Amino acid sequence: MKDHLQTKDWGLGLEKEHLIIAGPCSAETPEQVEKVCQDMLAANAVPDIFRAGIWKPRTRPGSFEGIGEDGLKWMEIVRHHLNIPITTEVGNTAHVEMALKHGVDVLWIGARTTVNPFAVQEIAEALRGVDIPVMVKNPMNPDLELWIGALERMHAVGIEKLAAIHRGFSDAYDKKFRNKPNWSMPIHLKRIWKGMQVINDPSHIVGNRAGILETAQRAINFGLDGLMIETHHDPDNAWSDAKQQVTPKQLKDILDSIDFKHPLQTEHPSEKLQDLRNAVDHLDDQLLDLLSERFSIIDQIGAHKREHNLTVFQADRWKQVMDSRTQKGIAKNLSEKFMKELLYCIHEESVKRQEKKLREEVPTKKTI
Ligand code: PEP
Ligand code: MN
Repeated sequence: MKDHLQTKDWGLGLEKEHLIIAGPCSAETPEQVEKVCQDMLAANAVPDIFRAGIWKPRTRPGSFEGIGEDGLKWMEIVRHHLNIPITTEVGNTAHVEMALKHGVDVLWIGARTTVNPFAVQEIAEALRGVDIPVMVKNPMNPDLELWIGALERMHAVGIEKLAAIHRGFSDAYDKKFRNKPNWSMPIHLKRIWKGMQVINDPSHIVGNRAGILETAQRAINFGLDGLMIETHHDPDNAWSDAKQQVTPKQLKDILDSIDFKHPLQTEHPSEKLQDLRNAVDHLDDQLLDLLSERFSIIDQIGAHKREHNLTVFQADRWKQVMDSRTQKGIAKNLSEKFMKELLYCIHEESVKRQEKKLREEVPTKKTI
């Protein structure tokens, strides 16, 4: 693991346990920007950062592709009314230059750009030596390496304030989500890039405003660090993403309904939590002893197979192990999916160890 992934607190540098980013999918007109700000003030729903798309990466041409540079001038309206940082999406060098010229405070890289290392590198080069926070949305496809790669490209040119945004993954077969969430991925990102701030974008995950609260709550439950929620004064008539945008009033209701959880202050766990953790530590030791014992028997089986010229993989035995253990696991309140993944993992390691044994020389034969 690279050192920089473990060394410091990342994030955008705003002191907030949960960062709230809101604003319209797209800036449309100066009047729209102003109305969104006024309604946010009236609803007491002013976010920490105001978002507005200026260049819109649309899947097919012909729909509204963003208002362009003019929209950046309207960001003054946001500053005037709300006095908060603003963020917009950049997809190429020209976008970066214009956004910097107009004093955009935070940039984000969209999902369709993160998939393309050439485009990400081009943006990174345009940002070399610039002190500006950058948020990187996950790529369209569930590829954690690509996501991390884009963050690394930003870091490599000197961007120190970094955040990631989980906005879900394109899945043609999923009916429930516009972009299916994959909760293990943002969590794994936080595991391997310690201190990385990961924000959730329930608007693009769900694709309709009715489901936003449920997904936002799950993100908070898992321990993600903030929310980006598309907010428009008149969502039904928005020029892009009309179905998923909420009004400032609805934003306020969503934020009030979320049960915000807090990360544990690790130095002071309660006595009860400490006891439970001690019990888990003890069980983990036992699990490791058992696994180690199991694999030493696996090695003996491997040696036996070598002596009798048997193949490592025996389909009938595997099926019997898989079926019987899965049933036993289910009876002990373990999920079928978990049992299958666990057994595949153990079996794969067993097969590798036995095959290694098969390649070892038989100790009794002397070579001349
Ligand atoms: C957006 O935030 O409006 C947007 C285009 O997002 P994504 O890159 O997640 O599709
Ligand atoms: Mn959008």
